[in-house]
Amino acid sequence: MTKRVAVITGGASGIGRETCLKFARKGDRVVVADFNEAAGNETAEMIRSNNGEAIFIKTDVSKYEDVTRLIEKTVEEYGRIDIMFNNAGIGSSTPVLDMNMETYHKIIDINQHGVAYGIIEAGKKMKELNIKGVIINTTSVYGILASPSTFAYHATKGAVNMMTKSAALELAPYGIRVVGIAPGVVDTAIIQSYRDHGIIDSMKAKVMGNKLTQPEQLANAVYLLSLEEADAINGSVVMADEGYASFK
Ligand code: NAD
Repeated sequence: MTKRVAVITGGASGIGRETCLKFARKGDRVVVADFNEAAGNETAEMIRSNNGEAIFIKTDVSKYEDVTRLIEKTVEEYGRIDIMFNNAGIGSSTPVLDMNMETYHKIIDINQHGVAYGIIEAGKKMKELNIKGVIINTTSVYGILASPSTFAYHATKGAVNMMTKSAALELAPYGIRVVGIAPGVVDTAIIQSYRDHGIIDSMKAKVMGNKLTQPEQLANAVYLLSLEEADAINGSVVMADEGYASFK
């Protein structure tokens, strides 16, 4: 049987790394993409040392040419691409009136343009190779809920929600699905800056069970969305937030 090939951006850490490990454990071939070379290679090595198949391709998702190269190299190496997980992202905690344009553009370049490049390039390749693949984009509860000091982050996650729906509509005729996944508050490096501000406890209190979600839980949800059995889920943003956005 042909093995599936999954490209995972942000695969060096947190949700991305756990998703790489999950897909590999399930027998998929994994392409770990990240701009953190040392940690990205480490993820690929973790997989190979457990008899899985993985390569690392250094990628800055905010650079269109890097994402184009990522998809080309994936196909050169493994011959196909079945799953594109556009997950790399950075946080922001700058009040709107203190925002400088360098910070603003950096967040948009990575969290929004990085996802757009992944959708476009993976979509084109899946269509060219006639693969009925799935593109999964990490968004956030902050794509639908407002919170102080995360102005630019909200802009990107709202954009990811709408890019997901729009691309799903256009790629459906080729049998390619596009789905968003919206975590609430996951125990990864990205929330460290909020930890410093002492707001983790109040975020935790919004989650059913009053606990941080673990990255493995997100990896499990992403894996479920990737399965053919989930083919009715298309153009949706699936909340994986343990109730964060559902209750006051
Ligand atoms: P993380 O910091 O552990 O992982 C993010 C990864 O993205 C890192 O490996 C980092 O090197 C990589 N990355 C950042 N910029 C990049 C770039 N330009 N090119 C390539 N790689 C880049 O954080 P995480 O929580 O695992 O975040 C993954 C995704 O989940 C992000 O899109 C984030 O916005 C989203 N998210 C996280 C939470 C949470 O509570 N942790 C909640 C909602 C959404």
